[in-house]
Amino acid sequence: MGVYLSQERKIVIIGCGAGGGTAAQFARKTDRKASVIIIEKDRYPQYSKCGLPYVISGIIPNFNDLIEFSEDWFKTAKIDLLLETTVEKIDTSKKIVIVKKGGNVIEKPYDSLIIATGAKPSIPPINNIKKGSNLIKGIFVLRTINDAKDISSSAKKGDNATIIGAGLIGLELAESLYKKKMKVTVVEALPSILANTLDKDMSKIVYDEILKQVNILTDHIATRIESNSGKITKVFIKDNKTGEEKYILTDLLVIATGLKPETALAKDADCKLNENGYIIVNNKCETSVKDVFAIGDCTEFKDFITKKSVPIGLGSIAVRQGISAGINAAGGNYTLLDGFLQTCTSEFFGMEIAAVGSSDENLITGKFNGLSLPHYFPGGKPIIIKVFANKDGKILGAQAVGDNAAQRINTLAAAILGGLDIETFRRLETAYAPPIAPTLDAITLACDIISAKLRKRQK
Ligand SMILES: Cc1cc2nc3c(=O)[nH]c(=O)nc-3n(C[C@H](O)[C@H](O)[C@H](O)COP(=O)(O)OP(=O)(O)OC[C@H]3O[C@@H](n4cnc5c(N)ncnc54)[C@H](O)[C@@H]3O)c2cc1C
Repeated sequence: MGVYLSQERKIVIIGCGAGGGTAAQFARKTDRKASVIIIEKDRYPQYSKCGLPYVISGIIPNFNDLIEFSEDWFKTAKIDLLLETTVEKIDTSKKIVIVKKGGNVIEKPYDSLIIATGAKPSIPPINNIKKGSNLIKGIFVLRTINDAKDISSSAKKGDNATIIGAGLIGLELAESLYKKKMKVTVVEALPSILANTLDKDMSKIVYDEILKQVNILTDHIATRIESNSGKITKVFIKDNKTGEEKYILTDLLVIATGLKPETALAKDADCKLNENGYIIVNNKCETSVKDVFAIGDCTEFKDFITKKSVPIGLGSIAVRQGISAGINAAGGNYTLLDGFLQTCTSEFFGMEIAAVGSSDENLITGKFNGLSLPHYFPGGKPIIIKVFANKDGKILGAQAVGDNAAQRINTLAAAILGGLDIETFRRLETAYAPPIAPTLDAITLACDIISAKLRKRQK
């Protein structure tokens, strides 16, 4: 009769990371009768990659503590989780995936397919870094539990650790290895740390603080590795400004220089990729191929402000895409907002940082450097907020370093989402009590500065 029987719907998900695991749960909630299968090549069910640095440091006692949804949980939810099983090929004409487990190759049919294959660390061209296709002994990346276990078991008190890359992951790891009592050096090719997250003036505050605990060399590029009996002993670095080369004694090297999307399957299945190799998706997580969705670190989607395509790279976004793809793949209808704000946060050496939206250099900025409590109340902590607005006063971005940076940035994220302008937002009535917050919070005071700049322009 042309009626779709929901018990016949077969939803297959490739990858049980933040995106895939979430998609499975929302597919199950949307269609209680569908068959939902997740195929995962690794041996772990859904776990938090974001927690890995904190197991290395010892704040979280065990790697197993990072497992968010166990095999039993998936069983109870009637989601078929196939671990240590790899999807080798997607055949979109037959609507099957070809799957390998051990020596067996099997076919799994699908009505809806979700590609959630994530990304792998990208390795810069450093001479002698590999033997054959493997990194030489003592050199690591950090993406999976197994990577973190390898780093953990090689991190010896008093040894020299070098981290290439001063982004969020590189600096989180720097703190972990410092807590393991290693002598840590971070090498960054760009002139400032956290270049994708904070403006130079904001990241300088973090840099000055971190420098009290670990060595950081910005504007230096790693060129080659020296090893002895197959194990790393030195990493050579070149000063970008002077060209001078020197070396750092290194027992353990971690490369944290960004990601490459895992999109070979999607490409082979004719899903449209962009010039950087990411899968192009719309706000329902649909790819260019019918009934094939894609989510998470293997995809690019629009930035909320510029509407330009940006790589995803955040667990918070992979989860939101997972909700959308899971519901849509199960016959529901869930549209994401028109782009991602890329709200993000982290903490290193006691310094909380957070950022949201645009920091385009043509925007007008207001920066306020204050305390989290009234000056007379003991225990107030520094908070520095920088807000970005366009010439019409519309709030488009913000960065924060210090006390409750993330919560303050979340408030500004709401302002951006709601299209608020400086004049409205600076009148925001924030809660006040001496032990909790000052009468006027740094988030509105930073906007007062933009307001004054705009008024001056109008004169
Ligand atoms: C150390 C670290 C700290 C981080 N901290 C934060 C943070 O604080 N906040 C934040 O928002 N984000 C953070 N992230 C980023 C976040 O972890 C990722 O954005 C998120 O994991 C992406 O989810 P995903 O599902 O797209 O990919 P993944 O979680 O990588 O999952 C992809 C899965 O697909 C599997 N797979 C790939 N190919 C196949 C195949 N052919 N067959 C079967 N399975 C396959 C992989 O084994 C993998 O398990 C951090 C990442 C790391 C590494």
